Amino acid sequence: FTADLTAMLQENIIGNRVVKAFAAEQHENDKFRTQSDVVAKQIQRAQTYWAGTFSLMNFGFMAAIAAILWVGGTDIINGKEVVNGEVEFTNLTPGDLTAFIFYMGLLAMPVRMLGWMVNSFSRGASCGKRIFEILDTPSPVKEADNPIVLTDTKGHVLFKNVEFGYSQDARAIKNINFEVLPGQTVALLGRPGSGKSTLSHLVPRFYDVDQGSISIDGIDIRKIELNSLRSAVSIVLQDVFIFGMSLKDNIAYGKSNASLEEIVAAAKVAQLDEFIMGLADKYDTTVGERGVSLSGGQKQRLTIARSIVNDSPILILDDATSSVDVQTDHRLMEAVHEARLSKTTFIVTHRLSTCRNADLVLMFENGEIIERGTHKELLAQNGAYRRLYQVQISDIVDYSKSILSKPVSQKDDHD
Ligand code: ATP
Ligand code: MG
Repeated sequence: FTADLTAMLQENIIGNRVVKAFAAEQHENDKFRTQSDVVAKQIQRAQTYWAGTFSLMNFGFMAAIAAILWVGGTDIINGKEVVNGEVEFTNLTPGDLTAFIFYMGLLAMPVRMLGWMVNSFSRGASCGKRIFEILDTPSPVKEADNPIVLTDTKGHVLFKNVEFGYSQDARAIKNINFEVLPGQTVALLGRPGSGKSTLSHLVPRFYDVDQGSISIDGIDIRKIELNSLRSAVSIVLQDVFIFGMSLKDNIAYGKSNASLEEIVAAAKVAQLDEFIMGLADKYDTTVGERGVSLSGGQKQRLTIARSIVNDSPILILDDATSSVDVQTDHRLMEAVHEARLSKTTFIVTHRLSTCRNADLVLMFENGEIIERGTHKELLAQNGAYRRLYQVQISDIVDYSKSILSKPVSQKDDHD
């Protein structure tokens, strides 16, 4: 219950902007109060129980001392004799009794400790159980028996009848067939939830395919040693994650021995160098919770720089420039294109300008490829891609019209 409370608190702290934006403070306060009431009741119950046992134990201890005093005292009095004017004790001496009571006191402490030990042991055991549950979860992705280590990867990728679902009953992607030649760029396009991220997560084997196969340079990826596969495939995930350390270390995350020149070169490709050079500590600036906050687009470009430093033969960008403005995105894509001339690139994108430069465009719907080809071929097909193109183009045309017509529209209305 305390764990639930902590999780709720953490959510509220991290999501405080959302809470404020939706004016949901009252709701969150009530939620927190209800949960803390539950925790308070639990703690109260535990304390009542503990107080009960504690006083019972103390009572027992005191009762034992009382009994000893009673029995021992009687014994001393019965054995008291006066010999030659001196008092002598034939049974038990007062000193013996005192010593006995003192020993009792010494013994009581460890007995009480035993109670505490049992308490903390059971608490530790229940926490440990939860930790081990997570640690012992078997990974569905297993290393092959005699794994092949990838060396000098060309970047030929082949998807053959690939099917995959997160659960038994629903397929996230199905019937996927395509081939990417070394150095080619593939653009993946499609509605949210159509399976683009899922497909890109299959290449570095975050999950294994249910049916069919994916191969790199003709080798089924399930036969490739995991480490060498993952260093051959650089993926920029849709959810960016920045570590709370310097920009330099963040960029060099996958290659800790990268030189500063390599880091700067990667930052330049990612269009981030200019921004970093404007900071007081340059590449040593700490980012994240305890440092400089980055904008969404800056974070994305940082993760792109990270994957460029890795210099892997296969690069996957999963919606990596969604928060980057169109112009910067354009420069970035050109730089990536130039820097990775001989490398295979997968780009999940919503921008048709990126598709225009791709060697192959795959359009997804409900986990299937519904259209494929180059930008030109797809335009000629007069299908979903063309409709998307027209929507984006007409948006731009409308927008530019509205800008162009504004200053003149009041005076003359030729349009
Ligand atoms: P977007 O453009 O929004 O990023 P996408 O095309 O990348 O969408 P995917 O993330 O591949 O979409 O999701 C495809 C389908 O798989 C969705 O229906 C989604 O609900 C489901 N899905 C995605 N990730 C998981 C997961 N970890 N567990 C279960 N289902 C998932
Ligand atoms: Mg996605």
